[in-house]
Amino acid sequence: MSLTVVGSIAFDAVRTPFGERERMLGGSAVHFALAARFFGDVHVVGPVGEDFGEEHFKLLEERGIDTSGIERVEGGETFFWAGHYEHDLNVAKTDDTRLGVFADFEPKLSAAAREAETLFLANIQPDLQRGVRSQCEATRIAALDSMNLWIDTARDSLLAAISEVDCVMLNDAEIRMLTGEPNLARAARGLMGLGPSIVLAKRGEYGAALLTADRLFAVPGYLLEEVRDPTGAGDCFAGGFLGYLDAAGAPPSDHAELRRAMAYGTVLASFNVEEFGTERVARLTREEIEERYRLLTAMTRIDDSVTGR
Ligand code: AMP
Repeated sequence: MSLTVVGSIAFDAVRTPFGERERMLGGSAVHFALAARFFGDVHVVGPVGEDFGEEHFKLLEERGIDTSGIERVEGGETFFWAGHYEHDLNVAKTDDTRLGVFADFEPKLSAAAREAETLFLANIQPDLQRGVRSQCEATRIAALDSMNLWIDTARDSLLAAISEVDCVMLNDAEIRMLTGEPNLARAARGLMGLGPSIVLAKRGEYGAALLTADRLFAVPGYLLEEVRDPTGAGDCFAGGFLGYLDAAGAPPSDHAELRRAMAYGTVLASFNVEEFGTERVARLTREEIEERYRLLTAMTRIDDSVTGR
């Protein structure tokens, strides 16, 4: 099974109450790929500038990620994002966004990237997301993430992109902002009316909720005593969630598999926030993932007498 992701490939400057980094590898597609690689072959699609070095390609390639869809633009600059968090780590404040090579990017996918069963349109300009979506005809599950910048500046394109996927993953505040509807259940129903059968509402340290036409499933965040930098947590969640579904070959209507996928998403996100940027997930092992998955699923059994298991 395999997954294709388009999204930012970036350098990030990040400050949190627990430290800072001036320029580290980041981007929504990079965070996703590093998490999803544990479950299947991952093809990354997107441009980088001349400042994106061999060591960055190597970091991804050594972890089995296909970088042949990363286009290096002569004379160009890699996407750059600067942001910070105050004591509420659930709220990222953007200080600077420089699109660089993304401004004129036209995605051209390899045959392997087009044929992937699972597609993640990670956070990036929604017309680019649509450009990739239209080339992937073999996709079994397509999911999309976005953020306030695109809700503000490209709302119509974003709504069109949402109508072309099975699953939309946004945080609570973004769902409200996009739909103009303060009630999450009604907002999710509105989004499902556009096409997706799944709305995944991300809630930072409080976890995530999965809404479908007739069901709701929520999973708490994995409780950690050390949290340093939440950047990329949403993309790692998506990597664990979609990676698991891809490997299981599960249709988006299989609720038992969706619940397991939510737990894997939670586990991958929890590792990501323990250190800055990609630092922790880059050296993660499958054994560590499985151990935390067992702990999380054991901890969240609310009432065994109801399920009888
Ligand atoms: P997350 O914390 O999961 O929402 O994702 C953080 C990543 O998103 C960072 O590594 C940034 O490089 C990237 N990012 C920030 N702003 C944007 C944007 N406007 N478009 C695409 N990617 C972005």
